[in-house]
Amino acid sequence: MKITSIKVNHVRFPVEEPIVNAPPMPMMQRDFLAVRVMTDEGIEGIGVTGFGGRLLPALKLAVELLGEVITGEDPLRPELVASKMRAAASHCGPGGLATLAMTPIDTALWDIRGKALNQPVSRLLGGLRDKVPAYASGALVRTTPTDKLAPAAHALVKKGYTQIKTQMAVPGLTPAQEIERIRIIRDAVGPNVNLMVDINERWGVAEAIGILSRIEDVGLGWIEDPTVANDYKGLAEIAAALHTPICAGERLYDIAPFQELMTHRSCDIVMIDLFRAGGITPWMKIAGMAEAFNLPVVSHLIPEIHVSLIAAVPNATLLEYMPWTWRMFENPPIPVNGEMTVPTGPGFGLNFAPDLFTTYGVN
Ligand SMILES: [Mg+2]
Repeated sequence: MKITSIKVNHVRFPVEEPIVNAPPMPMMQRDFLAVRVMTDEGIEGIGVTGFGGRLLPALKLAVELLGEVITGEDPLRPELVASKMRAAASHCGPGGLATLAMTPIDTALWDIRGKALNQPVSRLLGGLRDKVPAYASGALVRTTPTDKLAPAAHALVKKGYTQIKTQMAVPGLTPAQEIERIRIIRDAVGPNVNLMVDINERWGVAEAIGILSRIEDVGLGWIEDPTVANDYKGLAEIAAALHTPICAGERLYDIAPFQELMTHRSCDIVMIDLFRAGGITPWMKIAGMAEAFNLPVVSHLIPEIHVSLIAAVPNATLLEYMPWTWRMFENPPIPVNGEMTVPTGPGFGLNFAPDLFTTYGVN
């Protein structure tokens, strides 16, 4: 089989919060690149990437240029294709635009492999689970007014979620007010809901320890990104100071920085972002590295594809259901009672929605 061409489309989705129709969070990611890799046997693989903001058109061009480089290659040889892409990018990366551009191509190659073998990718990668637990993300955020927290949390529980995430580091609030917000949510959902908190790298090390040590009794499932992503020692200090598990990793690119994260014991739970990892192939290497360090892994964004990875890996524990990409797909998988069923169709079991480019395309 040979790759004959690739097509890259920029799509933009409306600002929305579809889980419980909560007010959408500002700064949400809504621009993505939908990528199709064509082959001479008529099999087409799909991939997705994003980030870059105003640089997204440059990312689109980068994917297209890598597509030219790999035309004629065998799609069943992802490591060979990756080596050609790395060589073509010539020391631009690892990390940043180069890695984000490699992601949708590697992803599409796994989709092609699944379709060629008539098997779901989840089984090609390990086939451990048929359903995966998913948590609700993005509906209970730092812009949710304090008096709306309890009803918003109730709405998620009523929707069947037993695992939910919120945020701290709310601009303009004192630590005492921040702490009060978390206690309101815990009181609203009771002790048996897994409640997680994302700081999004907004605090310093001492600040994080100072504030978070005052809510250890809330019994949070994890505290995510309490300080900047590559302060491995600072994260390790926070992890050592608190009983609550620390989750980190979503902003790391490629595989090498994860070795730093794990060697320093900077976190208790490793979060992997498919776009920044560079595709399915490096994602699986990071998950394997974490397994060797006796650490669980969780996913970041793009749940429709991540579900096939979380399903495959023994140390994966939880899928983030952040529904920013659901409009990309025809019949997108959606969690029911806090679980997402793993697609069983060949490849990722996904097709781009028929109206994706006509309704959401950006030129
Ligand atoms: Mg996060």
